[in-house]
Amino acid sequence: MLISFVMPCYNEAGNVRAMHDEILRVFTGSAFEVELVYADDGSTDETAAELKRLHAENRLPVKVISFSRNFGKESAIYAGLEHAAGDLTVIIDADLQQPPEVALFMAQHLLRNDEYDCVCACQEARRESKVTALLKRGFYKLMNRLTEIEFVDGASDFRCMRRSMVDAILSMSERNRFSKGLFSWVGFSTKYIPYTARERNAGSTKWNTFKLFKYAFDGIVSFSSMPLRIASFAGVLSAAAALIYMIVVIIQKLAFDIPVPGYATIVTLILFLGGIQLFAMGILGEYMAKAYSETKKRPIYIARTVLLPPETQTKENAQR
Ligand code: UDP
Ligand code: MG
Repeated sequence: MLISFVMPCYNEAGNVRAMHDEILRVFTGSAFEVELVYADDGSTDETAAELKRLHAENRLPVKVISFSRNFGKESAIYAGLEHAAGDLTVIIDADLQQPPEVALFMAQHLLRNDEYDCVCACQEARRESKVTALLKRGFYKLMNRLTEIEFVDGASDFRCMRRSMVDAILSMSERNRFSKGLFSWVGFSTKYIPYTARERNAGSTKWNTFKLFKYAFDGIVSFSSMPLRIASFAGVLSAAAALIYMIVVIIQKLAFDIPVPGYATIVTLILFLGGIQLFAMGILGEYMAKAYSETKKRPIYIARTVLLPPETQTKENAQR
């Protein structure tokens, strides 16, 4: 049985060879034939050269898709899946944080259990600050509330899937790819197993707080239209409040002849309503921007070169 490893790589020069050797070591003598699919996401370091060497050595079949620039991990995953030929496909980071032993366990689990189409590893014992952990938990809770699909806390992209599920994911050609959502959206029965992530082998993480927030926000906009409803709700609520206040003011004036305080009330109300309007417009704008970028139908990635194992031909300047 052929198993493909899809590895998104962005500036992982110090890791791709170690990853290759680890997978080779773990899977030697197993029931699986292995192919490695590296998606080089526009790396600016020696990653491309190192991948070229690995491809030339041909100790394992190696495919390398090199992007014309950095398109992001989600695009790299898509490119990798597109080139993966395996009956089973594992998505794994190229930094050795996710142990290939766990991948072997996942693959064996699928071999033995026909009823599952996917095994997903959930990271436990995360080395992160309490605030980050709390924010992440809040995000998963929110996503489960806002959307119809299930988001499992800690579920990562590290997973092993059958062909049918890979094909289903590839059939979704949207540009704004929030893969946690896509994996849940396609359905299929998924087994969640815990694993402990190791320290990064070399290099540094590409995430920062700003990127995490952007990622979370993109996820919500991609999979829920609830924020739009919140905007309508805020509109109805402020209109109702305005109506009630108007009645109060009229009664005060007519019945008790209390002078209506002017300046402060008006300024506060104008600012408040202006704020709500801009907020609602901003939300609307986010959805419009997403819709706009989808209608342009730009490719998910552009490959500069694609290296395939020697038995298959090498395509230069391939474009998707
Ligand atoms: N990655 C990528 N494109 C990017 C950022 C990251 O392909 O723009 C890859 C990166 O090379 C790694 C994986 O995605 O293999 C996970 O990235 P990272 O280790 O920075 O994330 P973390 O493990 O800290 O969540
Ligand atoms: Mg990592």
